[in-house]
Amino acid sequence: MSQRNCFNSVPKGLYFPTERRKFVHRIFGPVPSRRLGRSLGIDVIPHKTCSFDCVYCECGATTNKTCKREEFYPLEELLEELDERLSSMEVRPDYLTLSGAGEPTLYSRMGELIRRAKEMTGLPVAVITNSSLLHMEDVRRELMEADVVLPSLDAARAESFIKINRPHRRCDLAEIMQGLKTFLSGYKGKVLFEVLLIDGYNTEPEDLEALKEFLDSVRVDRIQLNTVVRPGTIRELKALGSERLEEIREFFGPKCEIVASGYTSAKGKETDTEIEEILSLLKRRPCTLEDIHNSTGIPIPGLIKTLDELIEKDEITTNVFNGKTYYTTEAKD
Ligand code: SF4
Repeated sequence: MSQRNCFNSVPKGLYFPTERRKFVHRIFGPVPSRRLGRSLGIDVIPHKTCSFDCVYCECGATTNKTCKREEFYPLEELLEELDERLSSMEVRPDYLTLSGAGEPTLYSRMGELIRRAKEMTGLPVAVITNSSLLHMEDVRRELMEADVVLPSLDAARAESFIKINRPHRRCDLAEIMQGLKTFLSGYKGKVLFEVLLIDGYNTEPEDLEALKEFLDSVRVDRIQLNTVVRPGTIRELKALGSERLEEIREFFGPKCEIVASGYTSAKGKETDTEIEEILSLLKRRPCTLEDIHNSTGIPIPGLIKTLDELIEKDEITTNVFNGKTYYTTEAKD
């Protein structure tokens, strides 16, 4: 996951204030997803438990780099919280998405969670994965339950893979690529394949040729090009310019698209108060004014006023990245 929709989880121990007090908050959103519309997230992994430590990760440095699968949170509690959250929503989300500030396939009961969440809600389930565990037969089998899989591969050359994704020592690129091939050859659902490009990391001609060769050999519905759009763990990363992205899109062929930088239509409002919604969103990731508007549906003039008030009260702050202003609950550097 990523700049690819891996969101900060609510800090450990933060509970819903009233009747939902019994749950640690593992269900988040709906958040505007560039690829899934209104996506209600299920965060199955403790904050920054991941097999990678990507330089662009918007959730900060990985604190538990691991390839060991575990039931980090009891399955029954996740389902109970999901049920409660959905019953309080006026507008249903477009998708349930296994995501969060870590790698969701590390959740050892992922297959059962997907199957039961679908049965319980009737909603389609998407899984965003960094592909690192797809060499494991049980992970591939469980992932077959998902309606949409959003795998990623940023590099098909070991040197670039290590530089950009900073993987766990047990992650082997050749194994990952073979795991992806095996999974995609049998998977019947939709595949939105993401490649995140950063100048100086994975954009040399040999990088792009190796990626293209791999992508030409697997079954995907779309290849989605992304670049850094929010501050990562290395702050000086530069977004690839639109001209360069366009060149690469053409190089990858007709299935390739540049991921649009915004969700366009909020379908309605939730029952939580506006301030709770805003703070909940910003605890997960930095957002622009447009991101917040699209996620919450709060009209821009009122939203600006509310954000100004939250800044006045020191509850949020702003950071500028690549010329855009992001609101965040994190302190300034
Ligand atoms: S470090 Fe993990 S959570 Fe962060 S972008 Fe990379 S794969 Fe996603």
